[in-house]
Amino acid sequence: MGKGVSPVSDQSGAARTEAPLLSVRNLTKHYPITTGLRSKEVGRVRAVDGIDFDVYPGETVGIVGESGCGKSTAASSLIRLEEPTEGTVRFDGEDITRYDQAELKAFRRRVQMIFQDPESSFDPRMSIGEAIAEPLAVQGLTDASRRREIVVDLLERVGLAAGDADRYPHELSGGQKQRVGLARALSMNPDMIIADEPVSALDVSIQSEILALMTDLQESFGLSILIISHNLAVIRQICDRVAVMYLGEIVELGTASEVFTNPQHPYTRALLASIPTADPTDRGTGIELTGDVPSPSNPPTGCRFHTRCPELIQPDDYAFEQSVWRRVMDLRQKLDGGTVDVDAIREGVVTEREPSETPDDVSATETKARLRDEFAIPQSLGDSRAESVLEAALDDLVSGNPAAARERLATEFATPCESQSPTLEDATAGQTASCLRLENELPPTELEQTVRSD
Ligand code: ADP
Ligand code: MG
Repeated sequence: MGKGVSPVSDQSGAARTEAPLLSVRNLTKHYPITTGLRSKEVGRVRAVDGIDFDVYPGETVGIVGESGCGKSTAASSLIRLEEPTEGTVRFDGEDITRYDQAELKAFRRRVQMIFQDPESSFDPRMSIGEAIAEPLAVQGLTDASRRREIVVDLLERVGLAAGDADRYPHELSGGQKQRVGLARALSMNPDMIIADEPVSALDVSIQSEILALMTDLQESFGLSILIISHNLAVIRQICDRVAVMYLGEIVELGTASEVFTNPQHPYTRALLASIPTADPTDRGTGIELTGDVPSPSNPPTGCRFHTRCPELIQPDDYAFEQSVWRRVMDLRQKLDGGTVDVDAIREGVVTEREPSETPDDVSATETKARLRDEFAIPQSLGDSRAESVLEAALDDLVSGNPAAARERLATEFATPCESQSPTLEDATAGQTASCLRLENELPPTELEQTVRSD
């Protein structure tokens, strides 16, 4: 990959003069996959694979990406709840990766974590007041009436009432519990809050209230916030800057206003297109992210997003419609993965026929037509040379020679995206993205809304 070798600076904060509060460089967390009695390492889950970003004082930075992209691992390894495999994390000028246990303890008071499920961090037998006061007592504040005063003040600042101190966790709603979680974090007077999916378990109406509260608290306490969410709408509501993560890497980083109005990475564009809007007749751009995030134990070659990218670069020699090109590549990938079952395709055709017919009665032409349908590939590609390549590959396939089909498609329908790794490049002032389209100065693809036949 080589991306982690020379630490890329977080360009999107470059215009600032003050020093970052948190500075993450080449942060990497690999989980070994072991087998057998001797725990021999047979592979690695590359959960976080060399990321760089900064958080400035008083700033809210968001990390967004689909589930499984490595967001939580990034958070837990940057505060060393799990030891990073590689990288440095500087906080307030010091490299915390060298801290001993006592120094780590002090650091973790200054950086408080908030999780999706506040439930798990509360003792059900402790009242809310006791839960908030507990860290104060641990810190050596022995004066009980002073503790009570602080608790009441914190409860009010998070929008709860003094009387709530005597209630128990089970009596509170999810939103109220998250408010208590914030009060407890604030009792340590932290410099920074790291919130991992803090509103994902809440009703949409409550989510927005809690995010607004976080913004208020940030201003009144002068906090920095690192918020993690799979939901771009959440990030859009409260962040100054955004890092978009895909499969262990940051693929785009910039100010929220730039990233949301002028996204530079096809993954960001696809995530944005998938934000549901209030208008039920608005079907968005029709560009959908299909499939799941691939396994980080075996990430795709080249650009890690190439197996799903709607804007995959086309080979020079052909003129595909972009959405058709994507589907042809979906077929190619499935063939490479060995998951195209021609017999099953024939069976599928036969079930719609007379009971006396068998899969052997299905002609090659019918099988090829059905294959195209399965992948939503039109019966003609509209480019005669591309069409003849695909037709020949389908002939290989239905005549029982998938290896020839794979090879033909790999040779003819190759994309630089599968072989070259993009690096983070300045896209605009204050915004970086890693996409070969940017490196090759190719414009974003005009993606037309197309109606899928399936
Ligand atoms: P996110 O928070 O973005 O949903 P995670 O950081 O939880 O993603 O996970 C990133 C990847 O790392 C996932 O593929 C996940 O299965 C894997 N992973 C997380 N924790 C471990 C672990 N302890 N051992 C092995 N793999 C892990
Ligand atoms: Mg997570």
